[in-house]
Formats: sequence, structure tokens, C-alpha cells
Amino acid sequence: MTLAEIHTRVLACTACPLHLGCKSPIPGEGFDGWTGEYDVMFVGEGPGAEEDQQGRPFTGPSGQMLREYVDDVISTSRLFVPYYTNVVKCRPPHNRDPSPAEIRTCQHFLNSEVLAINPRVIVTVGRFAMMQFLPDALITQVHGRPQVVLGRVILPIIHTAAALRRPEYIPLIKRDLALVPRLLETPLETQEHKITIL
Ligand code: SF4
Repeated sequence: MTLAEIHTRVLACTACPLHLGCKSPIPGEGFDGWTGEYDVMFVGEGPGAEEDQQGRPFTGPSGQMLREYVDDVISTSRLFVPYYTNVVKCRPPHNRDPSPAEIRTCQHFLNSEVLAINPRVIVTVGRFAMMQFLPDALITQVHGRPQVVLGRVILPIIHTAAALRRPEYIPLIKRDLALVPRLLETPLETQEHKITIL
């Protein structure tokens, strides 16, 4: 399935109750006008109030913060093309956590996006996104520790929403994001299981 087909299906989805409480499901998005391949996929938990209004992922305060930090890495280190998406595509009411059933129902969209985009690196933003790839991990222990899962590099980072409440997380998030250019340059075969490059 192409990315365009996935986006069309997301926009029309009514498969779980989350669609009842949001303005619209929100597909992933990348660099405006980009029609080639994406290098790095950023996966968050779900849309918030601002995203729901705008119909775009990672556009609320914490999403803008992440985009700003990613742009800093791109401008100072290495050009890569980011793609932003979420575990669930509809805003959970009152920003509650998505339920396991809702995550399972929406999972096929994320799987399809990964297959269509074929990203070299997947950055999981926060606990819920991390759990899709590293179900037994603890975010406080594994953030900034890239791992190879099914042939892709997974880099868990702390959610920028947490940094809005606890600014002491900001240097950790920036440090972890700074790993992305090196992960893109390191051959996958040398990135056995757990990589220690800090
Ligand atoms: Fe469909 Fe996902 Fe929205 Fe549920 S959260 S309605 S599965 S797009």
C-alpha cells in the first residue's frame, strides 16, 4: 500500500470509538512536497487538542518543541527527511491514554506506514510509541539507547510533553536526538542488538 492510500484510509477510518470524539483522524506527514523516501520516522502517542484542530501531527506545544529540536539536528549535523506520525491517529478524549484495544485496532496503520516508508531509523517519542517496538522496556532506562528490531534501528526518546512539565528532560531529549545522524551513517550490520555509542 502506498503512503497516499494509507492516508486516505486513515481519514475514512471509524474502526474504534476514538473517531467519535475527534474532529478527524490524522494521518502521518513529512517534509512538505517530499515525494521520495524518508530517512527517519518519529512516532508519538496520539494527537492532542491542537493537532486535532489543525489536522496535522506534532503541531501542539510538545510537537512543535520536537520539530524544533529535530530541525536543529538537521541544520547543524546532517540532512535527513523526517516523517511524523502517531500510534493512534485520533485524539483520545481529554488527552487520556489510548486503551490497549484502541492501540491494537489502529496498529495496522502504523505497520503499513513503516512498510511504505521503510525508514532507516524509527524514533519512538514517549512510552506508548516505545512499547510498540520494545514492549518490555522502561523508557527511563532505554531512552537514548538505540536497538535493532526486525532490521530497523529503534531510538527511544522521552516525550517532549514530559519536558514541558519537567524542563530537566530537555537536555536528555536533545542529547538523544543528536544520535540520529550517527545512526544513519552506521551500517546496520554493525548495529548488533544493542548499540552503545554514547
Ligand atoms: Fe481508526 Fe485509529 Fe482513529 Fe481508531 S484511532 S478510529 S483505528 S484511525
